[in-house]
Amino acid sequence: MTAGSPSLLIRNRTWLIALAAYAATVVPLMTSGLLYADVVVTSGIFFILVMAMDLLFGCAGLLSFGHIGFFAIGAYAPAVLAKFFAASLLSGTLAGLVVNLALALTLGRVFLRLSGSYFMLGTLAFGIMVHAVIRTWYPVTGGDAGLGDIPRVVLGSLSPQVSLAIVIWVSAALLFWFSLNLSASRVGRALRAIRGDAVSAACCGVDVPRLRINLFALSACYASISGSLFAAYNGAVHPDSFALSALLDVLLMLFFGGEGTIWGALIGVTLLRVLPDLSGPLQAGKILFSGVLFAVIIFLFPMGVAGALKDGMRRLGRARDEVRPHEPAATAGEGASGQRAAGDEVFGQGVASEGMARAGTRRLRAAGASGEPPPAVIEVEALGQSFGGLRAVDAVSFSVEAGTIRSLIGPNGAGKSTMLNLLSGVQSVREGRVSGLGHRLEGLSPDRIARLGVRRTFQHERLFAHLTVIENVMVGCESGSDGSVRDLVRCGLALPSTRSEAQRARAASLAWLERIGLADRADDAVSALPHGLRKLVEVARAVAALPQVLLLDETAAGLNATEKARLKVLLRSLRDEGVTTLLIEHDMAFVMDISDRILVLDFGRLIAEGTPDAVRRDPAVLAAYLGA
Ligand code: ADP
Ligand code: MG
Repeated sequence: MTAGSPSLLIRNRTWLIALAAYAATVVPLMTSGLLYADVVVTSGIFFILVMAMDLLFGCAGLLSFGHIGFFAIGAYAPAVLAKFFAASLLSGTLAGLVVNLALALTLGRVFLRLSGSYFMLGTLAFGIMVHAVIRTWYPVTGGDAGLGDIPRVVLGSLSPQVSLAIVIWVSAALLFWFSLNLSASRVGRALRAIRGDAVSAACCGVDVPRLRINLFALSACYASISGSLFAAYNGAVHPDSFALSALLDVLLMLFFGGEGTIWGALIGVTLLRVLPDLSGPLQAGKILFSGVLFAVIIFLFPMGVAGALKDGMRRLGRARDEVRPHEPAATAGEGASGQRAAGDEVFGQGVASEGMARAGTRRLRAAGASGEPPPAVIEVEALGQSFGGLRAVDAVSFSVEAGTIRSLIGPNGAGKSTMLNLLSGVQSVREGRVSGLGHRLEGLSPDRIARLGVRRTFQHERLFAHLTVIENVMVGCESGSDGSVRDLVRCGLALPSTRSEAQRARAASLAWLERIGLADRADDAVSALPHGLRKLVEVARAVAALPQVLLLDETAAGLNATEKARLKVLLRSLRDEGVTTLLIEHDMAFVMDISDRILVLDFGRLIAEGTPDAVRRDPAVLAAYLGA
């Protein structure tokens, strides 16, 4: 879509289509008297709450039971403020937002440190506690009697009911638009990356803790708004509405609609709020209906209605592709240099934010060209790592010069992968020093190191299963998201700059895929690729940000001869462009052919270092490999 499109709100059309489809379904039913306006208006309220759950669970894989607590606080805030200060609905809603934001930021810091199921339990405890407090704090919340007399909204000469219905659905529509934008942006990709593999996401530059906390807070704000609208609609609040069981309905809407799509939330809410109203028996047996539905979703279509629809459309698309001869995804006739230019253009314009331009390396190389030896981009001094009593890395020191390829070899268990984990921040350095690109790296988080310009692959490929092939590369290219509130807001509002950045990242990622021969698989799920190709995609993801330092862990293992040759060409051309590579490899022919120098580890110790020829003849190396 071009920057010349009419307005910010219309550029992303999914939300408009979805809402129009909703209105087209519901309005005729309402006018023919089959459906009560009441159900439609409350659907808007629950739609907001389901979106809150979908942002958190569908995108980032975090299931929170605490949202019933945020919802309750959002509902009680206008009631309490009206009772004690005669405050308006708007001030009550804002007060609820402030309290929930503060709570979510605090709780997020605690809960998000906990892994999956403990996060769930922590939020569950919060939800139960909020319910207990509103039931027992009689002087403020009215205890079991609840609170009434919540102020009304009146828009101009409209009746209070119509005014509130408008406020509810306009809020829902705007939040829908914001969520869809967020989900389609680099923040959405970063969230799905975290859902798939948080360590790997961090190594692409995603600030995982910050992004998770800010998302949790954003999602709590949605729940808060939904709660305030719920209170306004009912005119009163009562603790029974905020028991955990109320959240089960919301979860059912989420899973039935299809998590992870945002628009699935609208389908889930519509069907589950509207269907029982259309059929008497369904209404009477609502709990039984819910139970059966849960079972149906789990066994028959775990991806929900939206997931099934998406799958169907993808299949249709594929069938059409098979009829039509396949066109290459990138501009035909463009040679390697053309693709390179696409990549350069992207980074000239700052998609990879911090320190990714290779100017630094060029400077380093220029210094090297003027007679002095090239300066080191990695320096390791007396680095050590123990696991229990095992010395995985033992007092290792070495340095790697800018713009060279260095191999790290050694028998299995020699400590090579551990070395890469220490360099990339995946494991923290407790013994010795590591500097890279002029920075002390020990103590830095993996995402900081990645954003400085050090990227890696993993021995056992760790692509993001929830993203397509090209999206995987895009996360690397965009350095994910720094997780800041600013980034969330920019992406949620779909500011033109974020859109053009995303377009450039897509073009550059496609160029990288072309370069490794995978452009025609760009939109495939990564699970559809064989092992060797997945490893190449991981390399593309690592190099897409044009890092200055590339760390590869046994990438050639599992590649066939053609793929290995392709990798070799890629690594050499990267070296020519100034990238410094440290690679772990078992294939000796590959290592001897490509390396400028070789490091040999055995039982965590550095036993040899030198040119391929010197290492080949080194007696200590021969002994380590042959056991002589
Ligand atoms: P390499 O990559 O050279 O095959 P690694 O660095 O993976 O070797 O492992 C070095 C040694 O450290 C091995 O003996 C391995 O079992 C051990 N090791 C590696 N990671 C861990 C860990 N997280 N916990 C315990 N032991 C580990
Ligand atoms: Mg290893």
